[in-house]
Amino acid sequence: MDLVIARPEGLYCPAGDFYIDPWRPVERAVITHAHGDHAHRGNQHYLAAAPGEGILRSRLGQDINLQTLPYGERLLHHGVTLSFHPAGHVLGSAQVRLEYGGEVWVASGDYKIEPDGTCAPFEPVRCHTFITESTFGLPIYRWQPQAQIFAEINQWWRANIAAQKASVLLCYSFGKAQRILHGIDASIGPILSHGAVEPLNRVYRDAGIYLPPTIYAGDIKKSDPIMRQALVIAPPSAGASTWMRRFGDYSDGFASGWMRLRGPRRRRGVDRGFVLSDHADWPGLLWAIEQTGAERVMVTHGSIGVLVQHLREKGLDAQGFSTEYGDDEEENAAAPAELAEGQR
Ligand SMILES: [Zn+2]
Ligand SMILES: [Zn+2]
Repeated sequence: MDLVIARPEGLYCPAGDFYIDPWRPVERAVITHAHGDHAHRGNQHYLAAAPGEGILRSRLGQDINLQTLPYGERLLHHGVTLSFHPAGHVLGSAQVRLEYGGEVWVASGDYKIEPDGTCAPFEPVRCHTFITESTFGLPIYRWQPQAQIFAEINQWWRANIAAQKASVLLCYSFGKAQRILHGIDASIGPILSHGAVEPLNRVYRDAGIYLPPTIYAGDIKKSDPIMRQALVIAPPSAGASTWMRRFGDYSDGFASGWMRLRGPRRRRGVDRGFVLSDHADWPGLLWAIEQTGAERVMVTHGSIGVLVQHLREKGLDAQGFSTEYGDDEEENAAAPAELAEGQR
């Protein structure tokens, strides 16, 4: 008997009668993390890892019926033992471990292998069946160490200051933005953030994550000389909007795993692409899957076919799981309206 099955509402645990990251409203939702395609409004009851509480409430509403559980702590529900384990993806992100009748399943949610200092690092969990994401599940995706990417961003920012230009860096407003703030050299110049980013910075700081001081971009006048020194952190949607005009002469960059590919880089039309992802790359996915010891692997997100084929060739029982999860590297998973520019 399968501990988790695909239903029209989302991934469902029949024994426990609850869903994991459902995309339609349900009675009981277990949430792996607060990205828009995983955490939806309208569920009667939410269960999530404790470090994600601030983000979930800020995105779904302060009044949601939310129960939290510290990483590693067990909860027994209808005979199913449930626990959360760090996924290393964004603040509060968790893998969900389910145990029932001696069978152990782990649903990864989204995960990243390299620790980044803004959330608890990924921890492999032993299981019989592993439900893995596969956003970057192709052999071409191999990330450079993040220190190298941050050095590139720092260098770009310095060069722009020398050329009297603002540096506008586009990235997902939740997770990626805070990771960049945490990782860059804040001594280079002032940092401005877009109205979609600034409230999330506050939630991270409240959770005890160090971020350098940031100034809400809306508070700065166009003529202010600070503009020509500043690094501006903004969501991708701001890139093509009139919001950019206030920066006068600027250089723009985009930080995403997709910047590995020439096509998306060209379509974006930005000056610089920085290959920085909050997801595991191909070697990372294979390493994580191996660490679980699972003989059965269900693959969601992205390049399912290639990863499934690869795992089958290694002798694993692998199959695709069809879901409605989106792509948080592009911010297709739309940010809630109240996080739009202007409201902070
Ligand atoms: Zn995500
Ligand atoms: Zn996802």
